[in-house]
Amino acid sequence: MEKRQDGIDRRKFIKDLAMAGTVIFIMGPEVKGAEIGEGEKSETHLYGMGIRVDKCIGCGRCVYACKEENNVPREPFFFRTWVERYIITIDQEVLVDSPEGGINGFPEAAKEYSILRSFFLPKLCNHCGNAPCVQVCPVGATFTSDEGVVLIDDEYCIGCRYCIQACPYGARFLHPEKKIAEKCTFCYHRLGRGLVPACVEICPTGARIFGELRLRSSPLTRFMRFNEIQVLKPDLNTQPKVFYAHLDGEVR
Ligand code: SF4
Ligand code: SF4
Repeated sequence: MEKRQDGIDRRKFIKDLAMAGTVIFIMGPEVKGAEIGEGEKSETHLYGMGIRVDKCIGCGRCVYACKEENNVPREPFFFRTWVERYIITIDQEVLVDSPEGGINGFPEAAKEYSILRSFFLPKLCNHCGNAPCVQVCPVGATFTSDEGVVLIDDEYCIGCRYCIQACPYGARFLHPEKKIAEKCTFCYHRLGRGLVPACVEICPTGARIFGELRLRSSPLTRFMRFNEIQVLKPDLNTQPKVFYAHLDGEVR
């Protein structure tokens, strides 16, 4: 991704204009069409992630690896990926917790619950093909790469938080020092070197699968062919590129 030399001054200038309600027509880097595939060159990669919910043991290694790899602030409320635990009781009560994003695993569930079933659910940015965060960014700092990865140009981002509010998955946060939006990038810096995202590499159970969506032979498309696949909040038509197998009906 190209870096701009005049980033800081430009950010301040654009932020002042945006906060003053001025309409800005400066476009950020390569803002792409909303649909998956639309505007994306067929000769390029198109990336996605699969998650086998039944394989996740809630160990939190993915959360830790992500923080290390991407220099995510250590405070326990900043995450690019996190793991939630769902507990469904025999009374059909649904309890969800994610202590410190699951980075240290999960304590035993409280004894007072009569548990019908429980499972762990890794979450991250869905790299939506129809991404609300891309649509609302007033300066084009949030954009979709040719490979379908939703990225943020930190020199264009003015920290207005519109994207954070627009994301229906809670996948973004404002970096406490840099004052710009942050989220999962599928470890974009690793992909060009042929590496998978850090969370995928470290997962001891193979719960996360990363790969090409256009190649019939990729591990991801094989996973999608052989499992019943669902996405989170499908009714929002965000066209996520994170695909879940064995997703419980209680997941929200
Ligand atoms: Fe944007 Fe949120 Fe979709 Fe990620 S999950 S692309 S941050 S709307
Ligand atoms: Fe689940 Fe794998 Fe993350 Fe452990 S590393 S919490 S098994 S996705």
